[in-house]
Amino acid sequence: KKVLIVFGTRPEAIKMAPVVREFNKNSSHFNTRVCVTAQHREMLDQVLDFFKIKPDYDLDLMKPNQNLHSLTGDIINGLKPVLEDFKPDYVLVHGDTTTSTAAALAAFYSGAKVGHVEAGLRTYNKLAPFPEELNRQITGKIADYHFSPTTMSKSNLLSEKTPEDAIVVTGNTVIDALLESVDIVNRIQDNEDINKLKEIIDADKKLVVVTGHRRENHGQGFLDICDALNRIAQRDDVQVIYPVHLNPNVQKPVYSILGDNTNIHLIAPLPYEAFIWLMDKAYLIITDSGGVQEEAPSLGKPVLVMRDTTERPEAVEAGTVILVGTDKDKILHEATDLLDNQNRYNKMTMLHNPYGDGKASERIVDYLVKQ
Ligand code: UDP
Repeated sequence: KKVLIVFGTRPEAIKMAPVVREFNKNSSHFNTRVCVTAQHREMLDQVLDFFKIKPDYDLDLMKPNQNLHSLTGDIINGLKPVLEDFKPDYVLVHGDTTTSTAAALAAFYSGAKVGHVEAGLRTYNKLAPFPEELNRQITGKIADYHFSPTTMSKSNLLSEKTPEDAIVVTGNTVIDALLESVDIVNRIQDNEDINKLKEIIDADKKLVVVTGHRRENHGQGFLDICDALNRIAQRDDVQVIYPVHLNPNVQKPVYSILGDNTNIHLIAPLPYEAFIWLMDKAYLIITDSGGVQEEAPSLGKPVLVMRDTTERPEAVEAGTVILVGTDKDKILHEATDLLDNQNRYNKMTMLHNPYGDGKASERIVDYLVKQ
């Protein structure tokens, strides 16, 4: 059978890299090709380099001031010749991006079966014009096979009348990527990005690592987040390191508000391996990222999530993350408590990660072998 794996952003690449590897290991069953839309360019390429993935097709679609309308059209048009050339039986897409939905639709138009990795996450809150929830739902409607990270995401799909035999609970592939990479990262002797981080890190301080990118936080959200970070960084026992996402709606407020704070180190987005290394050194992580909140508990790191709603309630239930929204007082209050209340902090570091055991990609391939 022929399998086309399509992705375009940094987090998709990280989460699809172990899937690509697993399909390639099973070359007696599958002829596998990779197509990147390059919805992100630089941050995507960092991941492709680390996982040594050479895309068979690169649509190279990132443009300055990209909008979702033209991007969606470009992905569908760009994939048409790829689908005509390779004629895949299966097209695998991931998650909730414009790439996922447009690629699923293009695959459907070409008669390929669609597999959705990280299927069934829901907020049931459309939050227009923020695309993720609608992207998830549309991709789920198009998909023939649903690879759900947890039983909770499977339940969401069942409640939408998705046939049960088309859903497999696999765990999240982000854990496959993390467990494989942590090993490699620990053996890395001389890495430029890690060396630079070592120069910045003050071992006498508690390290707070921050990331953020979500559209729903653009505007007032990021202004409030920055305000809260300035207040957290007033503590002498704390140091903040923040790799800033390349989206101009993030770069602008962050650099203008936090740029002068000498206790907050604003740096470029890190290659995946250096970011994992940094997370591992953190005391606390503050983020609005989906992937980071899934990874952090495997490294024993508590996370404050700067979202009001979440499609990842498992983490909240397990207690590995605390939802703080972009309310500055709440961010400051929860961060202060975790910095001061060692008992509560220690308990959070010991919790079980609800997102998987590192074998998600194997389960995806096993399922498709049997189709
Ligand atoms: N990440 C990275 N470099 C960074 C920040 C994050 O490689 O400087 C990784 C992180 O380990 C996680 C992924 O990027 O796997 C998360 O991506 P992002 O927050 O952009 O998207 P989301 O997870 O919210 O979809």
